[in-house]
Amino acid sequence: MRKKRTRIIAPKCDWCGEHNQYFVATANKKIFCREQYIGQEPIKDCHTQYLNHLKEQHVLKQRLQQEEQIRLQKEKEERQKEKIKAAPALNEKLKELYEKLGVKKSKQTYL
Ligand SMILES: [Zn+2]
Repeated sequence: MRKKRTRIIAPKCDWCGEHNQYFVATANKKIFCREQYIGQEPIKDCHTQYLNHLKEQHVLKQRLQQEEQIRLQKEKEERQKEKIKAAPALNEKLKELYEKLGVKKSKQTYL
């Protein structure tokens, strides 16, 4: 007599790595545990955990990008300030140069 094997499909979860016969497969062929009785809170829901994780990662990435942008903006402002600080001194130098060269006042183009 042949033994009848009951094959339970229990794929490996892409989130927790456990094999679970209660699972959900997503469109991008990922498999997650999903144990839930209708009308109740899920006992195990790796898909939601995974999605939350992605969302957190996304938020984190956005925050880092924002911080980076603020940093770059600040750097730009600093450079601008340096330029403004340097401008009068440069103007003086140009004035000296023009005077040395004997350029007429009307043609003087300072910064
Ligand atoms: Zn799982």
